[in-house]
Amino acid sequence: MSIIRVLPDHVSNQIAAGEVVERPASVAKELVENSIDAGATRITIEIEGGGRRLLKVSDDGEGMVRDDAVLAFERHATSKIRSSDDLALIATLGFRGEALASIASVAKVELTTQTADAAAATRVTIDGGKMRDVKDAAHPRGTTLTIRDLFFNVPARRKFLRSEATETFHLTNLVTHYALAHPEIAFSFINNGREVLHATAASDLKERAYQVFGQDFLDNLLEVDGGHPQVARVSGYISAPRDRRTSRDSQYLFVNRRFVRDRLIGRALSEGYRSVLPHGVYPAALLFIETPLEEVDVNVHPAKTEVRFRRAAAVADAVRESVRDALAGAGFVREEREPETGGRGEGETAGRGDAETGGRGDTANASLSAAVGASAQTETRYLQPDSESLSANFDLRPDYQPPSQSKIDFASFMSSVEEALEEETEERDGEMGRSGDGEKVDQLSPVSPSPRPLGTPSLPPLNSAEKFAREVTPESLSANIRPLGQLEESFIIATDDEGLLLIDQHVAHERVLFDKYRTLEAERRSESQQLLVPETFDLTPAQAAVYDQLAPELENYGFELMRLSGRTVAIKATPADLPAGEARNMLAELLDTVDSEKKNTARETLRDEIAASLACHAAIKVNMPLAPEKMRWLIDRLLQTSSPTTCPHGRPVILRLKTRDILKGFHRI
Ligand code: ADP
Ligand code: MG
Repeated sequence: MSIIRVLPDHVSNQIAAGEVVERPASVAKELVENSIDAGATRITIEIEGGGRRLLKVSDDGEGMVRDDAVLAFERHATSKIRSSDDLALIATLGFRGEALASIASVAKVELTTQTADAAAATRVTIDGGKMRDVKDAAHPRGTTLTIRDLFFNVPARRKFLRSEATETFHLTNLVTHYALAHPEIAFSFINNGREVLHATAASDLKERAYQVFGQDFLDNLLEVDGGHPQVARVSGYISAPRDRRTSRDSQYLFVNRRFVRDRLIGRALSEGYRSVLPHGVYPAALLFIETPLEEVDVNVHPAKTEVRFRRAAAVADAVRESVRDALAGAGFVREEREPETGGRGEGETAGRGDAETGGRGDTANASLSAAVGASAQTETRYLQPDSESLSANFDLRPDYQPPSQSKIDFASFMSSVEEALEEETEERDGEMGRSGDGEKVDQLSPVSPSPRPLGTPSLPPLNSAEKFAREVTPESLSANIRPLGQLEESFIIATDDEGLLLIDQHVAHERVLFDKYRTLEAERRSESQQLLVPETFDLTPAQAAVYDQLAPELENYGFELMRLSGRTVAIKATPADLPAGEARNMLAELLDTVDSEKKNTARETLRDEIAASLACHAAIKVNMPLAPEKMRWLIDRLLQTSSPTTCPHGRPVILRLKTRDILKGFHRI
């Protein structure tokens, strides 16, 4: 007897609803996109009870004639695609033709719509996928969709809706996204009868961002403008390095004006901040990526917040470099040289740097230092009701200060070191089969004097500045290391028998913790700390896919995790030393890196990755003052590790400036 049967429509719609309709915000997303596609110039979103009791979206778009209004609820009913060829060139937001059908299968829906030339508006009522009524109504041109009692007929899903505050937060975030992506459309957002966002049509993003976030916030942002039209144009705004968030919630990313939560872009954005933001904290960003339509596939994810780029690496490069340039333009990072300019003329490089960083840096710095604290709060009030994302714990000194004449020696020395480090990492990334031999350092690009603003007349002559600081080989380390103090509260300055040492306190501690976590795990002696209040977090679909594989390994390290339901996980205990506040970030980061491609990674590699991630999140941060005893302790512990000179991610931990080179630098030999 045949046992395969075709599912009735309402069942397949409910299944599809599982993909499209995750929470009220995902319903709002579909409705707002439909309004935008219908050419609306004004969109009003009204919610009650976190969108669960009521979610209403009205627009003044083109509306639908009666037949279309009925047809719109059929599965795969869409006015936007006619053939599969159209799929390649999608410019509208919706196109799968399943949103309305899915939503109507799990809620009580009323659609009222009017076209420019119909005699009367049409009202269609549908409950749980069953058409109740179609009749005339009064409505100005445009469409209003009213969704009541979301999931009223799917108790299993209703149970997993979060608190009203959480759902409202997601809705607010979503409306913010669309308001930013479409400055030309007027947006109004009404929560429980109170209008929380009112934005009239604006002439550009800047004006819209001002309407949404306020002037202070904007003053604090750096403008991004880069990339290439053939691959990806990148524009928008990013926060200064001092303005840190503990989640990605303040990142608004758009691809061809479509709001995305794309890991590739998120990661490239973070990479742009490499060396100025530690792991686990995130910048705020409004980033618009424009690519030719054929370069991007938006049909990847049912909720369409993920996209696939044909040339993903090139897009990531464009984002990273544009962000880097913006930071460099404001004087936060060094202007970088193109890697291929191996044997370039020194003068040229320095000249370019001067020209580009000079004036811009000053203004940016001035306005930035003027407007830090208050601005972040403005945004927080609006976007982050729980305010936990504002990382008050990162109370930082002003970021990089251009070296003043009096502080010249160390500041410029540091910039050389920074540069060496950066080049090092880049080379290492690109280079296979590096032997790890310390003398290889000779092959590194010479470290040239800083092309920073505020010329530094007393820099050592070029040739003696070359090879200024070198990576240290394990063999050359002795126990005789004496800490002297800290540089920028980030690097321990020490001496040993061969010269001056700089020890990156964060990576040094990372190495110590990595070895510790790894040993405890191997010996099954991991220690846990119970959380007073378990933290919960929601897995993305991608994270959920690797979670089951990862969870047992995490537990070996001292995590106690409980999968509550669906994609919610409760953290009941964390490994010792890991600050409770970091646990969630660490897990999210790890779940993101151990992605499906790496699903079959060898156990050992996976264990290393977990230990490295734990170490990174538990380690002392940069920009943290250390008492002398603590420095002593750290150095002693570091020397006992399996590899004191490289961190678990392969970065150098210690740089040495040899006494001999110092003597040479001062022309004493
Ligand atoms: P899709 O947007 O993928 O085409 P939907 O299920 O979201 O599928 O919508 C089905 C169809 O209903 C759309 O193609 C569009 O023709 C029509 N529609 C939906 N919402 C609106 C609206 N606000 N204004 C005008 N037409 C709409
Ligand atoms: Mg749609």
